[in-house]
Amino acid sequence: MGRREIFAGNWKMFKTGKEAAGLVDELVNGTKTLKEGREVVIFPPAVYARELAAKCGGSAVAVGIQNMHYEKEGAFTGEISPSMVRDCGCRYILIGHSERRHVFGETDDSVNRKVKAAHENGLEPVVCVGELLEEREKGVTNAVIKKQTEKALNGITADMMKKTVIAYEPVWAIGTGKVATPEIAEEVHIYIRDVLTGLYGGTISASIPILYGGSVKPDNVAGLYAMENIDGFLVGGASLKADSFLDIINV
Ligand code: 13P
Repeated sequence: MGRREIFAGNWKMFKTGKEAAGLVDELVNGTKTLKEGREVVIFPPAVYARELAAKCGGSAVAVGIQNMHYEKEGAFTGEISPSMVRDCGCRYILIGHSERRHVFGETDDSVNRKVKAAHENGLEPVVCVGELLEEREKGVTNAVIKKQTEKALNGITADMMKKTVIAYEPVWAIGTGKVATPEIAEEVHIYIRDVLTGLYGGTISASIPILYGGSVKPDNVAGLYAMENIDGFLVGGASLKADSFLDIINV
């Protein structure tokens, strides 16, 4: 396929410090021999990021954070800045996850500011887009995806784009056990690539990893992975156990 393949685990608000450290030990051990071209990233709760990034040093596992503010610093109680993410040893930042958008009011504008802030601070953003069930049922999936993608990337240069990852996570598939069929996911991934081609041209568009997320499990990953435009996964529940996440990573 020629593109980077990324297998990412979004831990959301799960794990104690001890459990997190134990899971990382298992993942570091279990990824000593990865198939070529594959990268593994975990997004633990931010409070554990520094310690886990240190544990992952020299291993195949990279660490990112699930959310950040776009400002450099300031009176923003409860928030963390892009440079703090970087300072914790993290290379990746998840931006615009559906739970941020739909539970915490993240807007296309704040997503865009965060994507810019990520690049200004040497972080690689994993930008999430995805439609709600009612949007899919109304037949506006593509319109929603186009709007979210174009707004998130407003002002992002071609050079920045080369260090940007997109994750398609249909909201109706997240945590529901209802995975998108490989065909449905592939159709949207192709559409996202078309949108990227419109913005950056075919060469750059063809090089950008587009991950699928939403109820990915060891027993459904192979069909999704077989799709030409699915370049990896953003896994929630199944990334919380080493054996199921490693089964997905080794698909
Ligand atoms: P699940 O894999 O638990 O459906 O979560 C998907 C997700 O939101 C990953 O970011």
